[in-house]
Amino acid sequence: MQVAVLASGSKGNATFVEMDGIRILIDAGISARRIKQELAALGESVEMLDGIFITHEHGDHIKGLPNLVKKYGIQIYSRPATFRAMSCYEELPGDCVNPIIDRIQLGRVAVRAFDIPHDAAAPVGYIIQGTSRCVVATDIGNVDDRLQQMLEGAQVLVLEANHDEEMLKQGSYPYNLKQRILGPLGHLSNRRMAQVVAELRRRPQKLILAHLSESNNRPELAMDTVKSVLDSYGINNMEIYMTAQNHSTSVDF
Ligand SMILES: [Zn+2]
Ligand SMILES: [Zn+2]
Repeated sequence: MQVAVLASGSKGNATFVEMDGIRILIDAGISARRIKQELAALGESVEMLDGIFITHEHGDHIKGLPNLVKKYGIQIYSRPATFRAMSCYEELPGDCVNPIIDRIQLGRVAVRAFDIPHDAAAPVGYIIQGTSRCVVATDIGNVDDRLQQMLEGAQVLVLEANHDEEMLKQGSYPYNLKQRILGPLGHLSNRRMAQVVAELRRRPQKLILAHLSESNNRPELAMDTVKSVLDSYGINNMEIYMTAQNHSTSVDF
């Protein structure tokens, strides 16, 4: 299995997963050209993709989608309400649109969508399950027991570490935007993310910190906060990786 977060952050998100010969993208929020370049750098190609799974309709998750699909005819999977809410919906070739509710099977790999709380039409995270298990979840306002359950047992977990609570509170964002981010349909903080991971019964071997805010977070701060929270639970054997907006982070398993 290979998991490569091609780009992550409020300006664009895309994650490549290869498992048991199946190749998928989770989100296409960077340009089609950049997706092509990043895949080529991994020795992969857009033509080899078996599908693109969209988490929700915000621009930072679908920006590159129309061009990518029009040019290469790749199948897209997402919740029906997410398709309808996409600003680019009319541009997508109809024979590439696959509304899914729960899960689909691609070869030996099952891809399952699960609900996440966020201010979008029908936002989801994805479980990619074959001989290994990878879970991708970003844009999460809060984590309840049901969502926590979905994060269990992944070898590789890509999880949002959006902001440092203090940086956000003291930063320059207008009050309403701060409230949105901190609210139950907003984004997950570094600290809360680490608590969620620490409280899993079957924790990941590799944890990838994703969707960092450029204004309200710093990579070193996110890494330090997550490590110190995990440390306070006596957890110090997890491999932790950082992602970035402008370059890819690749993890083999
Ligand atoms: Zn969003
Ligand atoms: Zn986002």
